[in-house]
Amino acid sequence: AKDQGRNRYYFFTEDINTRLLDRLELEANLRYIIVRNQLYLHYQPIFDLQTKQLVGLEALVRWRQREDHLRMPGEFIPLAEEIGIICDIDSWVLATACRQLPEITGANGPRLRLALNISPKQLEMPKYADFVQEQLEINGLQPDQLELEITERVLVTDIPATEENLKKLCALGVHLSIDDFGTGYSSLGYLQKYPFNTLKVDRSFVRNIAAHDNAKRLVETIVTMGQGLGMDIVAEGIETEAEETFLREIGCERAQGYRLGRPAPINMIKGLLQKAYPE
Ligand code: C2E
Ligand code: CA
Ligand code: CA
Ligand code: CA
Repeated sequence: AKDQGRNRYYFFTEDINTRLLDRLELEANLRYIIVRNQLYLHYQPIFDLQTKQLVGLEALVRWRQREDHLRMPGEFIPLAEEIGIICDIDSWVLATACRQLPEITGANGPRLRLALNISPKQLEMPKYADFVQEQLEINGLQPDQLELEITERVLVTDIPATEENLKKLCALGVHLSIDDFGTGYSSLGYLQKYPFNTLKVDRSFVRNIAAHDNAKRLVETIVTMGQGLGMDIVAEGIETEAEETFLREIGCERAQGYRLGRPAPINMIKGLLQKAYPE
């Protein structure tokens, strides 16, 4: 019994050590992510549900750590926030996506809106709004072509720099979007405080539409409330025809999801502009 106990202890510490080493290695590599040029973007199409037109693209960051090793944001964004390099990543994403958008649409292409995910840390950066304005101007984009997606989490903080950036971005005409609506723990008070243009209904609600009547009523209530406050609604994570039809019927403006188009590299997205709405 004594031996067994010792073995368990041995395996336990080994496991902790392995995880600690993994984390340290990840952290060390993460610090060079920009200088080693290992980031790239995928874009997911966003459609107008009513007209079935392609109206926007959401940029989603990817990390090519090695040729054969790609990492998804869930694997490194939280650590990047923790060790304070998320602003470098988000700034790279902003500059790169603003440069690639005209490349995707071409000179006479449709006027698409670019949606970017912003970490709360990014909004705490002094002069962030000025950086955004600069990137728009350099690339000839109109402010309302940019939609910054902010998760609910950021809004519980009352940081002066955050407030100042949000105010400036609004004045500039950049669109603000509440991401993952319904998954956070903040009150609805912030909806009065900042003029959000868009509310994104989290996939966890959309996913339950078919199975539960309560979920249907909940989504319908969120859509009605958001529209009542003057916001456009974007439903995320649409995977089935039933989900798509229901959301269209209740008047949801925009949608994205695997059914309509998966996140894809820039060249595939260019090809998408020639194609019709997926049936
Ligand atoms: P998000 O903003 O909620 O983005 C949507 C996520 O859902 C993406 O995962 C997308 O690939 C996935 N998705 C889209 N449609 C469907 C669907 O129909 N079914 C399912 N199962 N999934 C779908 P991804 O690319 O792994 O991104 C995860 C999260 O990482 C994003 O969630 C966002 O919060 C964060 N993120 C991505 N790019 C950036 C970035 O540049 N900066 C920051 N700060 N965060 C980012
Ligand atoms: Ca998002
Ligand atoms: Ca989301
Ligand atoms: Ca989500």
